[in-house]
Amino acid sequence: MVNTCAFVEAARQESIEAILDLAGRRRPGARLVVTGCLAERYGAELAAALPEVDRVAGFGEDLLAAPVALGPTRGAKVPAFDLLELPRPPASAPWAYLKVAEGCDRRCGFCAIPSFRGRQRSRRFEDLLAEVDALGAREVVLVAQDLASYGRDLGSPGAIIELVEAVAERVDRVRLLYLYPSQLTDELVEVIGATGCPYFDL
Ligand code: SF4
Repeated sequence: MVNTCAFVEAARQESIEAILDLAGRRRPGARLVVTGCLAERYGAELAAALPEVDRVAGFGEDLLAAPVALGPTRGAKVPAFDLLELPRPPASAPWAYLKVAEGCDRRCGFCAIPSFRGRQRSRRFEDLLAEVDALGAREVVLVAQDLASYGRDLGSPGAIIELVEAVAERVDRVRLLYLYPSQLTDELVEVIGATGCPYFDL
């Protein structure tokens, strides 16, 4: 199974190379499945261009069910089965990513992510903290397309402040990926600075 990226050309190229590499090395009877952003965004073209692929599957697609139509026509719908809430095993390294939200409500001119990831869906505060506890990592990397907007879709704008504080109480280090520049308020900078590992990506 190849989990592809479609964000920049180099990533698209790397995804194609990974597909072709696996296609050339697979054992008899093995199925080759391609999923992720490239599959979601260019599903039909990908399937036509790569006959060696057995299945091109978009986000949250049931691989045992019949394929659904992929590509731009599918638009920015939210998958019926959102992978966000899948249970995870404890971290096998001292650090772990924590997906805080999926999707993005912004429309930066250069970016296609909202068109296939859909609107922002924030995970519940309690679920995130429970996952931090279960992961058992010393460092947690909070991830969302528009992390500082965490909670806005739940009616709690500014909840990122509370989230960073709560996670920092549980682990040694918290890192933040990715903040929209205008959302980097003085209050958020102070909270990040107080975590002991002041790190964020804009
Ligand atoms: S905030 Fe990020 S994910 Fe959202 S549209 Fe802009 S670049 Fe894309």
